[in-house]
Amino acid sequence: MDQMKDGICARVDALAETLYGVSEFLKEHPETAYQEYESSAYLGRVMKDHGFDVQAGAGDVETAFVAHPADCAATRPAVAILAEYDALPAIGHGCGHNLIAAASVGAALALKEVLGDAAGGLFLVGTPAEEGGGGKARMADAGVFADMDAAMMFHPGHLNLPGKGMLGRIKFGMEFFGRPAHASGSPDKGINALDAMVTAYVGINALRQHLRPDARIHGIITHGGDAPNIIPEHAAGLFYVRAGSRTYRDEVFEKVRKCAEGAAMAAGATCRIDVQPPVLDPYRRNLSLEAAVQANMEAIGIPVDEDDGRRGSSDIGNLSHVLPCIHPYLAIVDGDIPSHSEGFCAATTTERGRDTLLKAAKMLALTAYNFLTSAELRQRVKEEFESH
Ligand SMILES: [Zn+2]
Ligand SMILES: [Zn+2]
Repeated sequence: MDQMKDGICARVDALAETLYGVSEFLKEHPETAYQEYESSAYLGRVMKDHGFDVQAGAGDVETAFVAHPADCAATRPAVAILAEYDALPAIGHGCGHNLIAAASVGAALALKEVLGDAAGGLFLVGTPAEEGGGGKARMADAGVFADMDAAMMFHPGHLNLPGKGMLGRIKFGMEFFGRPAHASGSPDKGINALDAMVTAYVGINALRQHLRPDARIHGIITHGGDAPNIIPEHAAGLFYVRAGSRTYRDEVFEKVRKCAEGAAMAAGATCRIDVQPPVLDPYRRNLSLEAAVQANMEAIGIPVDEDDGRRGSSDIGNLSHVLPCIHPYLAIVDGDIPSHSEGFCAATTTERGRDTLLKAAKMLALTAYNFLTSAELRQRVKEEFESH
């Protein structure tokens, strides 16, 4: 294994300029969820140039793709190395998905060279629209992962972790409908939709005290009326409910719905809740596979940090209920630069960002190699996955 490890790491190092180029191209051409036309075409070209067949539009998602070594038939066991490449509105690659794509490309190219004729189980899967669009959930529903046994990616962050939990999430619009009237001349004729919204918002704040610590509710009011002298006939907001299990996520969502319905009743208004798909599932960790990740992190000199308990959500949550996944984090910043910021985007192409990119590619390639070549590891991973 040591010799193999050195071989994989040397191949990633030899690809360094190509991988920096991938990361920089994506950073300079940021495209938001499901608009990643240039990014996916560019990545497809890189893979073709390195001997992969590329199927664009995988799972009927236009900007998704699946790349597989051109000179090998597909075989099992199979591993999907996942490339994200969507950016955020206004701040570009503030979540660092340019690094995710570059590291996954690096892992796939290095592994193809090492595995040679035995690379039939190697896939690079381009998964768009992580930010709010749930590309992986759509692709999983379309069967893209049906013949695969594990999925792997890394995410840049401020800590080095082989994995951590992520919350399930429901995103929904909340609207109230009342009746307009002159706010001074005939307020008794009006029904105030904004009052209903404010009552609902206050009700949700009161609800928080009675929720388990993993629950999160956060929202904004996007419309509160048109003029102060008109009783608002329409108010609208956008909310997220998150929790650590599917059951509790759904339970909290129902409590929030009751807040809205009660508020509507109090104001004499009506309300409407529109869930915006996809609903995200909490991330199901696979500690057997994470143990392999951790061993590889240590082998290439990445110190493992303590989890600080910060939790978000991702569409890999949905995928982790379909097949075993890893989603380790590698630090490109210290804790003072938050993700989803311009500073984080800038950090992806600093010397530290570049160094992390190569380490991430090595970590993924080594873990995928372990998985493809060790029946014993696959057995442990499978048993753990099926024991939930
Ligand atoms: Zn993000
Ligand atoms: Zn992200």
